[in-house]
Amino acid sequence: MSDIVQDGIIDGKALAARVQEKVSAAVAELKARHGFVPGLAVVLVGEDPASRVYVRNKGRRTTEAGMKSFEYQLPADTTEEQLLARIAELNASREVHGILVQLPLPKHIDAAKVIDAIDPDKDVDGFHVINAGRLAVGKPGLVPCTPLGCVLLAKQARADLSGLEAVIIGRSNIVGKPLAQLLLNENCTVIIAHSRTRDLPAVARRADVLVAAVGRPGLVKGDWVKEGAIVIDVGINRVEGDDGKARLVGDVAFAEARQRAAAITPVPGGVGPMTIAMLLVNTMRAACAQHDVMVPEVLAGI
Ligand code: NAD
Repeated sequence: MSDIVQDGIIDGKALAARVQEKVSAAVAELKARHGFVPGLAVVLVGEDPASRVYVRNKGRRTTEAGMKSFEYQLPADTTEEQLLARIAELNASREVHGILVQLPLPKHIDAAKVIDAIDPDKDVDGFHVINAGRLAVGKPGLVPCTPLGCVLLAKQARADLSGLEAVIIGRSNIVGKPLAQLLLNENCTVIIAHSRTRDLPAVARRADVLVAAVGRPGLVKGDWVKEGAIVIDVGINRVEGDDGKARLVGDVAFAEARQRAAAITPVPGGVGPMTIAMLLVNTMRAACAQHDVMVPEVLAGI
């Protein structure tokens, strides 16, 4: 186990800080050797408060890592055509290497159309159909950030996941499905479970690596966890605490599951911080590919 795991808890905040340090070093190296700085554009349409917070955090972390951050806060009544025109501009910009459109988009805009308008080589969220295809057939491409973070977190508990049985609960395009591909690449035997899975507790109990990506607080009970399993909790659920205040919890009943797991990610402080860290890594990879240079060695293994 790496030193990121303390008392069985995989510290996503500490790992994210470590990844960000490496990205900063890589940015400095690119600037010195090749004379360019990676740039990330984040586009937000509308006033959704949670999205505004995410966008602000992404911008801050991007500049902290020494990259250029371009933020576009567009009004809620922006038309699809206007948004597509903005994306076309960003696709053409030589300073922008990564483009992220914050989801959800207002209802009058077709999100799939917008994502497909992003140049796949700048699609740092990895949601473009071309990148999903590249991942499926094992070609180099941009991979969604949250699943990338999940694999890196699991590897802190066990560097070699080969041969392990992995059960992923949730089959979304942004978490469950790409994570299944990544764990397959790690030579895990992968099961994707979902809302129609029969006897979910029994399926979960098979897992050496158990990932919950559902969005239901406390769905995974302690006795769903195999003794010694690695548990990765992707869920982010806002619930009311005993004191009446809102707090964040995951999909796993943490206190119970911790008794049986060899290592487990907390919520908050697990997968969440890693998602932005991997966004920075993706921006770095995209920038290097666009300039046709190698990704700096400091990022090897990430
Ligand atoms: P989604 O709603 O697109 O998918 C949820 C999946 O869970 C579906 O595939 C569905 O089949 C499955 N499911 C629903 N009810 C179930 C049940 N009772 N039993 C088993 N499976 C069930 O969600 P998503 O976008 O993949 O996100 C999942 C969770 O992860 C959410 O809480 C979301 O907020 C969180 N999330 C966190 C991050 C992060 O950075 N930490 C990133 C993305 C998503």
